[in-house]
Amino acid sequence: MRGDIYHLGLLGWPMKYSLSPDIHMAALQALDLGGDYHLLSISPLPGGEATLIGVLERMRRGELQGLNVTVPHKQVILGYLDRLTPAAGAIGAVNTIFRQGEELVGDNTDRAGFLKDLETTLSPAVGGGLVLGAGGAARAVAHGLCEQGWQVWIAARRLNRAEDLVDALRKLGFQFVSVLPLKPDELKAISPNCTLVVNATPVGMAPQTEASPWPSTLAFPPGASVYDLVYMPEETMLTKTAAKAGLPATTGLGMLIEQAALSFERWTSRPAPRMVMRQAALEAVASTQRMGGG
Ligand code: NAP
Repeated sequence: MRGDIYHLGLLGWPMKYSLSPDIHMAALQALDLGGDYHLLSISPLPGGEATLIGVLERMRRGELQGLNVTVPHKQVILGYLDRLTPAAGAIGAVNTIFRQGEELVGDNTDRAGFLKDLETTLSPAVGGGLVLGAGGAARAVAHGLCEQGWQVWIAARRLNRAEDLVDALRKLGFQFVSVLPLKPDELKAISPNCTLVVNATPVGMAPQTEASPWPSTLAFPPGASVYDLVYMPEETMLTKTAAKAGLPATTGLGMLIEQAALSFERWTSRPAPRMVMRQAALEAVASTQRMGGG
């Protein structure tokens, strides 16, 4: 940490657009802190390895105070850090890096962000959770649901990625977790047991706003709640069709704010100004939509 100045950034690729700079800059300004938040484009490894190592070295030297991590680096970055928090270690994915002494510590705030927002917006009773997708975000969601005692199904188009996730969860002692192909007939077969559907794929994210990860030919599980991790546009095709079917549904904006707030607190050791961060995110989404991006 250098006084009250925070140089922050997001590692990802390709880095066209993100709400994170708006959210974190608003938080810094609200607390009268200086600094900046940059999008740091690092191509997938092994091509981007030297650049990645260079950025992490800058952080070790104290030139950067905090980093977020997004696709495609959330899992591969584990091998480049000195230590993981128990959450990141258990989930097997990192979305936040902070410094502790000389060490770079990888953390995962997606899980806590998801669980908090799920409780705030939909507060479903523990039951059967169907997670669509098997990437970094699905790992955090599935782990959080398993810990709360849900039975979890991971539906993915690349089954081997979902099987790796299920193996990792079983090794942690969670037995009620299984895999299925992300196909209408397979979803239909488990549908009667589902009380929650979570979209952890990017399907429906602007500019592909007409797309939904839920097959248009298939009814939603009766009485289920629907949580879409996608946060742009404000209402996704999935949440719109679920609401039309009479189901409680929400997008992932609340999760985005909460995971960002938790990251901010790791970096600054100050309570994050969540209302300010939410307002900044809403304004950024609205302005992107006005410009035709959402
Ligand atoms: P990721 O690691 O790239 O994983 C994406 C998953 O979605 C993979 O399983 C991928 O399958 C699947 N997928 C991609 N396109 C698909 C398609 N057209 N049909 C079916 N499956 C498809 O990404 P991630 O980090 O998990 O993020 C997933 C989504 O969650 C993104 O939209 C991200 O913005 C959002 N997210 C939101 C928050 C929040 O705070 N609200 C936090 C984290 C992530 P393959 O393996 O076959 O490609």
